[in-house]
Amino acid sequence: MNKYWKLYSERPKLIGFINALFINIVICFIAVCIYSSCILRYTDNTFMMRDGKELKFNKKDLPLDCFYLKDVPKLYVTAYEEMRVKINFEVSVDLFSKCVPWIFNKEPTYAPNGTVLIRMYESDNDFYGAFALVRYLDSGLILSSQIYINKGFKGDLLLKLMLHEMLHSIGLEHDNSRYSIMNATVTDYANEITYQDIISLYKAYSK
Ligand SMILES: [Zn+2]
Repeated sequence: MNKYWKLYSERPKLIGFINALFINIVICFIAVCIYSSCILRYTDNTFMMRDGKELKFNKKDLPLDCFYLKDVPKLYVTAYEEMRVKINFEVSVDLFSKCVPWIFNKEPTYAPNGTVLIRMYESDNDFYGAFALVRYLDSGLILSSQIYINKGFKGDLLLKLMLHEMLHSIGLEHDNSRYSIMNATVTDYANEITYQDIISLYKAYSK
């Protein structure tokens, strides 16, 4: 009898442990879901606007070809690569393709249609870390984009600047949420692509 009693006393412990583990996993999952869905856009329009029209690329241009000029350090190309994987994965659309070196002798004055071009931005003024130039038609159709990165940025800050400018390059507007990567000031808090941004990009660009 004692043996059987002992056997039974072990089982609830094991079941209790499995239950506790399961409950913890569920709680963590819910917490992560709540956390990520709490990162909401504060600004009304997700896309940049031109005369009431949202600036967007044509879906048939996707995935956008990316070029970088020969004076762009490898570090930036690696940052682009890392962020393009992140954006494509989070939005579930193949938005950006791999970035390849610009092979022609003459530098383009603007990026060819359906492309993103990464350029260096040399300035003594570090106030502006980076910016994106979007070339578009009156209809709101984006033809191409250029991402300018100021010299000297690396690590986490470079990744954030790259992510921010890449999202501008496909039409996203600034946002006032301190947690949004689209905040005009890239701070320690500004990390995430907001829930609305992901949904809006998916709606705009999924085939
Ligand atoms: Zn910006």
